[in-house]
Amino acid sequence: MAKPLVAIVGRPNVGKSMLFNKLTGQRTSIVEDTPGVTRDRIYGECEWCSRHFSLVDTGGIEPNTENDMLKFMRRQAEIGIELADCIVMVVDVRTGVTAADQDVATMLRKSGKPIALAVNKCDSIGLVNPDVYEFYSLGIGDLFETSAVHGHGTGDLLDWCLEQFPEEEEEDEEDEVIKVAIVGKPNVGKSSLVNALCGEERTIVSSIAGTTRDSTDTLIENENGSFLFIDTAGLRRKSRVDERIEKYSVIRAKMAIERADVCVIMIDALEGFTEQDSKV
Ligand code: GDP
Ligand code: MG
Repeated sequence: MAKPLVAIVGRPNVGKSMLFNKLTGQRTSIVEDTPGVTRDRIYGECEWCSRHFSLVDTGGIEPNTENDMLKFMRRQAEIGIELADCIVMVVDVRTGVTAADQDVATMLRKSGKPIALAVNKCDSIGLVNPDVYEFYSLGIGDLFETSAVHGHGTGDLLDWCLEQFPEEEEEDEEDEVIKVAIVGKPNVGKSSLVNALCGEERTIVSSIAGTTRDSTDTLIENENGSFLFIDTAGLRRKSRVDERIEKYSVIRAKMAIERADVCVIMIDALEGFTEQDSKV
């Protein structure tokens, strides 16, 4: 089973990266080499009460203008809604509620995903900061006062995350299945390979319940055993040049690799070996 994933969304400067760093420590990281992309780590591991899970900071690329803000936040919300088990929306107690906050909160609520609101920069402990109350207008009832700098409130926030995760499965049954991740750039032929394998082996093909995030999981059974192919190809978005989508594909690939026993990297022979392949 994939590790649960928590997505952190929110406007620039509310403290997403700081919260991310606080929760993940300095353990794992993906550093983007693309110019113009902030070098923030975007994907990390966290452990709380013996439960391991992953965190993604969706705010890697910041908008240049106030006009881009809504697009920026919607994109983050989309990533959270599509990939995460639960979403932590971060807001800044000092600036109050903004129009973009409202718009994104509405979008998140409609998704039906569990959402927590971290009202960040509540640095002092003691009585509730009265500025916190206006954030209830976002309609997210699970509200936590946090200080990413000091760590206040992060324990309660993590407790909440754990409550949203699916029950941990017994690994026994799954052990029989060999999990194979097919990774590679878009359009190298990942899905075609899986399809070809299914066809040749005249096999039972099914989508496995409980792998909702990867509807492309394919189980193949033959005389050699059971193989679960994790196809990371789900990424058929229009603008492949879009760096934001690039980040997104890295996250997907990372999740697939983590779950897999064996990884297959596919390369387009016509195009040759590229920098992106070497990163993968
Ligand atoms: P992001 O753009 O949402 O990722 O925000 P950052 O994590 O980069 O933080 C933006 C600024 O807010 C930085 O100057 C941080 O030092 C500051 N900051 C973040 N969290 C807190 C907090 O809990 N308390 C205070 N006082 N400042 C914070
Ligand atoms: Mg950041």
